[in-house]
This record gives sequence, structure tokens and C-alpha cells, in this order.
Amino acid sequence: MYRPDRNGRGILRINEMIRRNDIRNIAIIAHVDHGKTTLVDGLLRQGRIFRENQPVAERVLDSNDLERERGITIMAKNTAVTYRGVKINIVDTPGHADFGGEVERVMNMVDGVLLLVDAVDGPMPQTRFVLRKALQAGHRAIVVVNKIDRPNARPNHVVNETFDLFIELGATDEQAEFATIYTNALKGVAGRSPLKIHDSLEPLFDAILDQIPGPQVDPDGPAQLLVTNTVYDDYKGKILIGRLRRGTLRKGQAVARIARDGSVIPAKVSQLFVFNGLDRNEIEEVAAGDIIAIAGIGDASIGDTIADAQCPEALPSIAVEEPTVRMT
Ligand code: GDP
Repeated sequence: MYRPDRNGRGILRINEMIRRNDIRNIAIIAHVDHGKTTLVDGLLRQGRIFRENQPVAERVLDSNDLERERGITIMAKNTAVTYRGVKINIVDTPGHADFGGEVERVMNMVDGVLLLVDAVDGPMPQTRFVLRKALQAGHRAIVVVNKIDRPNARPNHVVNETFDLFIELGATDEQAEFATIYTNALKGVAGRSPLKIHDSLEPLFDAILDQIPGPQVDPDGPAQLLVTNTVYDDYKGKILIGRLRRGTLRKGQAVARIARDGSVIPAKVSQLFVFNGLDRNEIEEVAAGDIIAIAGIGDASIGDTIADAQCPEALPSIAVEEPTVRMT
């Protein structure tokens, strides 16, 4: 592709990959009740207030009071928070046995994971399955030891157990050198050591920025997105969720939908959204690396590729398995 650079000089670009430093895409893994909802609430709340102009500690305390009154307990599948100018997309993973390949699809969309473990219970059977998939996908994890305020908390022991689990699941040396952050999600506080807890979740935000790579993308290539999930909206119909791998997409753009059987069907993006807190915000154009939602292509299914109309290249599809029914 030949296009002028900012100074008007022509430059030749051939599938040039860049790493976006303004985005992090992470999945969150936790056994039920270990505090995932509470932690994500805290991240969303603090991400919002870090942008205001008041000392962080005061604001966190204020907002915790508000939070207790409102008692938000929603855990949306896709949320996003901005910290120090970096947008962090947080994708939930199913904590239970998963027959539909959802975990693989989520792992395909992110560049790293938060593994949340309770400071008393330690890693539980249900976290193993998802962690194994994360490690197989080559991701690095940040281990978040939560509920350090519990009377019988044994954070160091829990970290050792978690390390053993990584080794058992075949973690590489790099994956086994995970960063550990200790949290009391209920209070919205975190630290790099259980004995040195900061009065906000900043150490966790910082670890996400430091430990999880930004998405690597070809920003100028033809648009390409794998439909990773779908949700139904009463007004907009089926909405497609995925990570834009390459290029840009615009509202109103004519695209190609490549079905899993390889057929190419013309389609049109009627609306585009990015995630912001618990909401979806409509935008005009989006660049590769972000996790987005698309309305207007209601006949698409999970595993389809949405691509540039002139360059309809399919991404490798991901398993959408049906549950195995055993006949006896
Ligand atoms: P999820 O099932 O993983 O989403 O867990 P929740 O966020 O719903 O939390 C489960 C329970 O643990 C709730 O009663 C929370 O208030 C509580 N909880 C979460 N984080 C902490 C924490 O850091 N300390 C204590 N003591 N309780 C917590």
C-alpha cells in the first residue's frame, strides 16, 4: 500500500505491524465468589475517578461509600475502563464448565489475563480449566490474591499453590514468572505485597499496563474481525462482538461477511460501538486493536469473519463446539 506520511512524503507500507500502547485487552478468570464482580466494580469506579482532579485516596473513599449505598453487582461480559490514557477492555470468562468453546473465543480476543484467587481458598477446580486455556493461548497472567482482609488469609501460601498450578498446567518459564497483586476488592485497595497495601487499586492498574502487552495490529491493512460473541439488543437486533484485528471500520461501511463454510456475503455496518464502563458507546470509526460491537449484520454467527469488501480474507475460525451427548 502506498500512501503519504504526515510530512507528505510517500512511504511504502506492506502489512506493517505496530503495537498499540493505548489499549490493553484482558480477560478475568475467577472461581465463583472469589470477588470478580466486586473487583471489576472497583476498577470501573476508580478508572472513572482517576480522571478527575482530586487526590485519589479521598475520591476512592468517597466513591466507596456511594458504592455501598448503590450496591452495583452487575458483571457485564464486556467492560472497559481508562487508566492513565490507556483503555483497558475487560472480558469476563465463564467460571463453570464450558461446552461451547467460549473460553477459547475469549482467549482469542485478549492479550493477557487476571487470575483472581481467594486468599483463604486458593485456586479452585473451576479456575484450572480457564487458566489452562489462557496458558495454551500463550498469555501472561497477573495473579490477584483477593480478600486479604479475611481472618484466615494465607496469601503467601496461596501464591505458592497458584505457582504449582501454573507448572502443572505446563506454563512456560515466562508465564510462570507472573506478577502478583494483593487486593481487598471490597475496599478497593491493592498492593504488590500483602504487607504494603496502597489506598486504591493503582498497583493493579499499573501491573496491567506493565505486564500485559498492548494489541499488535496492522492498522493500515484491510479490515478484519472475527465474530467472537453475539448479544441480542431489543432495538438493534443481533450485535456482533469481536476484536478488530486489522485496519479500520466505519459506520455505514460496506463489508464482506465470510461465513464459516467459506461463502462471502455482502453486508453493511449500520452502527459501531466501543465499550466504556458498563455501557456501549456509539462511534463513527474504530481502529484495529480495540474490542468493538457491530450492529446491522444480524445474520452473522460466531466464527464468521467481517472483512473489507474488497479484500474478504477469513480469519481462522474458532471452535464452536456442541456439547457431546453420550449414548449408553
Ligand atoms: P464473584 O462471584 O467472583 O463475582 O464474587 P463477588 O464479587 O460477588 O464477591 C463474592 C462475595 O465476596 C461478596 O459477598 C463480596 O462482598 C465478597 N468480597 C469480595 N471481595 C472481597 C474482599 O476483598 N474481602 C472480603 N472480606 N470480601 C470480599
